[in-house]
Formats: sequence, C-alpha cells, structure tokens
Amino acid sequence: GKGAAMVTAWASRLADQTRQIAETLAEFRLTKEQLLEVKKRMRTEIQNGLSKNTQSTATVRMLPTYVRSTPDGTENGDFLALDLGGTNFRVLLVKIRSGKRRTVEMHNKIYAIPIEVMQSTGEELFDHIVYCISDFLDYMGMKNARLPLGFTFSFPCRQTSLDAGILVNWTKGFKATDCEGEDVVGLLREAIKRREFDLDVVAIVNDTVGTMMTCAYEEPTCEVGLIAGTGSNACYMEEMRNIETVDGVDGRMCVNMEWGAFGDNGCLDDIRTQYDNAVDDLSLNAGKQKYEKMCSGMYLGEIVRNILIDLTKRGFLFRGQISETLKTRGIFETKFLSQIESDRLALLQVRSILQHLGLDSTCDDSIIVKEVCGAVSLRAAQICGAGMAAVVDKIRENRGLDHLDITVGVDGTLYKLHPHFSRIMHHTVKELAPNCNVNFLLSEDGSGKGAALITAVGCRLRQQEQK
Ligand code: BGC
Ligand code: MG
Repeated sequence: GKGAAMVTAWASRLADQTRQIAETLAEFRLTKEQLLEVKKRMRTEIQNGLSKNTQSTATVRMLPTYVRSTPDGTENGDFLALDLGGTNFRVLLVKIRSGKRRTVEMHNKIYAIPIEVMQSTGEELFDHIVYCISDFLDYMGMKNARLPLGFTFSFPCRQTSLDAGILVNWTKGFKATDCEGEDVVGLLREAIKRREFDLDVVAIVNDTVGTMMTCAYEEPTCEVGLIAGTGSNACYMEEMRNIETVDGVDGRMCVNMEWGAFGDNGCLDDIRTQYDNAVDDLSLNAGKQKYEKMCSGMYLGEIVRNILIDLTKRGFLFRGQISETLKTRGIFETKFLSQIESDRLALLQVRSILQHLGLDSTCDDSIIVKEVCGAVSLRAAQICGAGMAAVVDKIRENRGLDHLDITVGVDGTLYKLHPHFSRIMHHTVKELAPNCNVNFLLSEDGSGKGAALITAVGCRLRQQEQK
C-alpha cells in the first residue's frame, strides 16, 4: 500500500544520502601509494630549499638557524624566554644548572594577545610584548636584572646569525603591519628602548628548534623537532655541506624547514579538496601554507566546518539549516575536535558538545559529524607522517646508513590533545620509512626551555669570541 511505498522511498533516500556522505569523505582517504608520493614530493622540495640554484623560489624554505649542535649539558645560567606564535603567548624565567645534577627550573606567565593586537601595527604588537615582559619582571621581583633573553618566534625567519632574523611572512592568526621583511630582533630591541629599559636579546629561535633542543638535552639521539599544533613545521640537523646557502662544509646545522608552505607551488593540488580550497580562501594568507592548512590545529576544524556546511546545504545534516554558529570561523578548536573524536565519549556526549557550540543536532547528525572529524584528522596525521618519513630518510641517506635510529622531539596541541593523531602519525612514518626506527619524544615545554638552552650556547660563544 501507500505506507510501504513511503517507507521504501525513505529507505532509498537514506541509502543515497549515506552513499553521498561516504563519497564526500572518501576524498580524504589516501592510499599508501599516494602517501609515498607525498613523501617523495616533500623530498624534492627539501632539495630545492637546500640548493643554491633553486633556493630563492623554493616553497619549503629550509632556513638555516645557526644552531650548530645540540646541548652538551654544560649550559648554565638564568635566562628570560619569550614564546610567541603558539596557542599562548608566554614570558618565562628559566634557570639552568649544569654539573653532576643538571636541573632546569622554570617560571612562566601566560599573557593574552588580543586579535586586534595580532593584526594591528608591528609597533603596537611589540609594545604589547615588551609591556608583558616588564609586567613579568615586576611579578618575579626582578625589575633591574639584565638577563639574556631567547625569543621563540614561531614564524618563518631568514636568519643571518643566532640573533638576527628577518620575518619572511606571518602565518596562522598574525598579520601585524610593518614586520614582514624586518629583523624581528631589531623590532623587539626598539620596543624595549621605547619603554626605557634594558634587555640583552641573544637568540631568536623557531619553536621546532626549541623543541628539538629540549629533547636533545635529555636524549642525545634527538636531532629532529616537530610541531603539530596551531601550525605545523619541522627542523632537523642537516649536513653543512648540503646547506648551500651557508658557507662552510664541516659539521651540521639545524635547518628550520618551514614545511607548512609545502604545496604552495601546486604540488599537492591533486590531493586537495574543494573544502581545502574554501579554508584557504577564507584564511588570512590565501594561497600560502597549503600543507599546514591540511594538517594543523588552526585549520582542521575549519575543514570540518566547511564540509558540514556543504553537507547541510545538501540536506544531510542539521535539518538542512545552516545556523549562524556554523557560519562562524574557528568554532571547532583543536580541543573540541579532540573531544568529539574521543572513543570514550558516548554519542550523546558528542551531541552535547555540538549543542554547547550552538549546533542543534540529532543523534544521526552527531554520528556524521564524528565521521567527518575522523576523516579530516586521519588525513592530517597521515600526511604529517609522510613529511616526517621524508625527513628521517634524508638524514639516513646523509649518513650513508642502511638503517637509522633517531629520536624526534615533538610538541603541539594537536599532537598532545588529539586522541588518534599521534598514533596514526607514528604508524605512517613506520610504514613509509621502514629503514628508520623513529622514537618520538614529547617535549616538556620546548619553546621556553629550548630558547633558554640556545641562549646559553649563544652567551658561551660570545664569551669565546671576546677572548
Ligand atoms: C610557522 C612555523 C612554526 C609552525 C608551528 C608555522 O605557521 O610558519 O615557523 O614553526 O607554525 O608553530
Ligand atoms: Mg608552542
């Protein structure tokens, strides 16, 4: 009768909907062959960044850091550190003691950087930073101490020494004017002068490098740093003879890869989706950091949101109603994605998280949202692993080894908070670089401690030069 016909129609619409959703998410599934291809392309871009002839147009910039060795345990002293460019802006006091019982003691304070300040003028941004330093010194009761300072600045910088770095371009949520093309240490020093106090800026440090150094302090086989957080990037110890942009052929130097820009020449277009394009178009830096936009915390939620908007438009979600919330950029922060994907959560709890975000969902909706999140974060972890596989294999070949044992120091909210990202990433590296045994070590506060360790080395080198 009529009822049965309606049920049949309904069932076939449901089957059709399920199939269409599955087809959409299948765009995010990569085969092993595709991942090996990503690894291979990363390797090509690494070479372009290192070679003199291709360096100026390379997307993966392979920036020299002037860090030539990992810590040796003799680092000693009290240091200030700044950490700008991650989830939080912090000022730190780091006390490093060498000797038989090595210790590192840290004090830190988190400061907010309002979006208006991140996206105003360089002068305002650096005045705010210096205001926070001065507040911190007050708070610690050390107003008049002139401590050496290490500046963890998590953006691409073209360095000419340990304490000079020209900002190539802002990434993530920053867009302050008059900074790109300028020496960031110079900008900081000028702001310090404007406030009429004195600080000794010794080093500018990328967060990947700080992370590597922190882990290397505990574990000497650590010669790679990885950040899977708000942004995505890696560094490693490269042979000087391969770094054609710096004079000298002896020993090694840490190279800040700036791998977030991988794909900016279109080499990942075949695996990017319409949703990746939408995220890129709506970002502060359209056309840039395409790999980062596929695998870092600041953008995963945005990819999810764009898929959800599309599925809603097609009538598969939220009763076909696109709410104001769903139109809001940045609603799915890493911590929400992590919660939604947690296996310990019942569907009802997923629903309540969505409710909490202002998304009025049915139980079916929550199932779909969780699947979408899963597809996006799986691809992120896999392509991050493919990039890392390229790096460790490069190091292995540099050293002429059939087999390499190496440690990667890691930090970042995505790596630390997400329930599956780290496991999938580790697994992918194993699969794509079978000749490397890679040990991942979580860095305890890499940005702060690492900057202090590098500053300690910088101070020692300076004293040696003066002798
Ligand atoms: C920046 C890198 C940084 C990474 C992780 C990227 O957006 O370009 O310099 O290491 O984020 O914070
Ligand atoms: Mg950080």
